[in-house]
Amino acid sequence: MRPTVLVASALGEGLGRGEVLQRRLPGSEVSGSSHVLILPDQLTDQVGPVRAALLDPSSAPSLMFIESFDAQSAPRHVQALVAQRAAGREFVAELCARGLKVEMLRAATYEEGLTAAHGQSPITELVAMEPSAPQLTARLQTWAKKTSVQLSIVPNELWLTTRDEWEEFASGRKELRMEFWYRRVRKARGWLMEPGAGDEPLGGVWNLDQENRQRLPKGATVPSTPHFSPTPIAQEVINEARAETASNFGTVDSFGWPTNRAQALEALEQFCAERLAEFGPYEDAMSREHEHLYHSLLSSAINLGLLTPHEVALRTLDEFAKRPREIPLQSIEGFIRQILGWREFMHHAYDRFWQEWETSNGLNHTEPLPSFYWSGETKMACLSRVVRKLISGGHAHHIERLMLLGNFALLIGVRPQEVDAWFLETFVDAHPWVVTPNVVAMSQYADLGKITSKPYISGGAYISRMGDDCTTCFYDPKLSVGDRACPFTTLYWDFIDRHAERFVKNPRMARQVRSWETRKEAVREAILEEAKLIRERAQRGEL
Ligand SMILES: Cc1cc2nc3c(=O)[nH]c(=O)nc-3n(C[C@H](O)[C@H](O)[C@H](O)COP(=O)(O)OP(=O)(O)OC[C@H]3O[C@@H](n4cnc5c(N)ncnc54)[C@H](O)[C@@H]3O)c2cc1C
Ligand code: SF4
Repeated sequence: MRPTVLVASALGEGLGRGEVLQRRLPGSEVSGSSHVLILPDQLTDQVGPVRAALLDPSSAPSLMFIESFDAQSAPRHVQALVAQRAAGREFVAELCARGLKVEMLRAATYEEGLTAAHGQSPITELVAMEPSAPQLTARLQTWAKKTSVQLSIVPNELWLTTRDEWEEFASGRKELRMEFWYRRVRKARGWLMEPGAGDEPLGGVWNLDQENRQRLPKGATVPSTPHFSPTPIAQEVINEARAETASNFGTVDSFGWPTNRAQALEALEQFCAERLAEFGPYEDAMSREHEHLYHSLLSSAINLGLLTPHEVALRTLDEFAKRPREIPLQSIEGFIRQILGWREFMHHAYDRFWQEWETSNGLNHTEPLPSFYWSGETKMACLSRVVRKLISGGHAHHIERLMLLGNFALLIGVRPQEVDAWFLETFVDAHPWVVTPNVVAMSQYADLGKITSKPYISGGAYISRMGDDCTTCFYDPKLSVGDRACPFTTLYWDFIDRHAERFVKNPRMARQVRSWETRKEAVREAILEEAKLIRERAQRGEL
């Protein structure tokens, strides 16, 4: 069926799937010519073709934004849908207010939207910053070939590092490890380097992670994180979402994520002023009372393009330069490592391995995901708390993602692609380029170490050390057998037993394997028996 093309009088008209809404904003007469396609995670006026257009609006090409159901068709947290849709509409409205021509289309897929626009007024050249997902680049290329439109994919300047930098780093390396990437790109930018000391990192140490493992002291006061009242456009989208997305994961009532650049900048300023100083020491801590601790909560805004990682890094470095006595090196180093190190490393790694990761399952894990991942209904206090906060807010911090949600799925042996799909569906900041490397490779170790040297696993003792969930839990983190045995603790040893042959050869895991093997046979048998019962209870929804 051919898509319907409508001219709308206002953004946000309720249309059904399959319809294409084409809105000509004032002054946007389109002739057969160059069009710039703005993708929904490239909402930036700081870099790229939109920046160039703003510098000279009178001779700028037409800009085109497709609000594609396609981009939203994978099931998403309702707040992820709202953030993406509202931020796209606000961005278009802002560009128009600044005198640019922007064509706004709504279509089931990018291809349908492009075809409708092309049918109305022929496009000779389509310019786009490189998509974050190589799959979309391939689709745009196929469309352009079919329609004989010239496609110009230009570098995506939202990334802090270039493909050349990655190729130079990766070529000839047997193992790709974030730490070496991070040192290299940090040195290249001269960030946090000892002045006048050549290649020496500031303070003489590259990575202060060891110092960033403190538990939050009892009674600590933690500044609140920003929560933005929905703008009129965001409110309109929330109303649409309420009508459309009854089956999506999560609730939308407490939506407070930034949907425009001004809000995103405010969130960055607040982080620098109020939380950056403590970011390092409590980076791995977990707390029932202070759910976000000192984290930045900037991932959603950065992943949409509302902030560039470059400006985020420079702004935090500037804050450190202004307040060197208040902001410890471990905080600024930890933060820069996340933005320049992990985020960029995961992006390049996805480009390289995404096809393999679609099927990687090196540990042969086949269990289904326990149902409490959707409902939070479990006696396990830590997982119940995190899933409930995901439902209401779409966010959990890194250690909760890695050492609670990911760790448990790995220990119990869930199929990695099911875990991947779950993470993609349940977080406000989820996009395939960042979810898949973090989940399939890092958290589930499904590729057997393409980018990490060991699986991230722990029993209840670690969780008890880093947070206060265990104090209210039905289970006891010290127990590995019996009704009150902590499922993390039991399944940790079960995992070591299942994969002992593989991990005894891994220098970072061998100690745990030996510690398991030196236990009395009867103790080991009892733990393995308990693990079987836990697995059964998980599948019956009784954990
Ligand atoms: C299993 C798992 C799933 C994840 N899923 C996502 C996801 O869907 N979207 C997402 O943006 N991040 C994801 N991450 C990475 C990280 O947990 C989040 O970026 C972070 O928790 C976001 O909260 P924040 O902005 O407060 O981050 P902060 O703790 O304040 O960190 C600052 C910034 O560093 C970047 N960053 C830190 N760690 C990573 C990382 N491992 N990979 C990429 N960027 C990183 C983010 O941009 C983040 O905003 C995942 C990690 C794991 C282990
Ligand atoms: S006892 Fe185990 S399940 Fe309960 S909160 Fe602690 S780690 Fe989580």
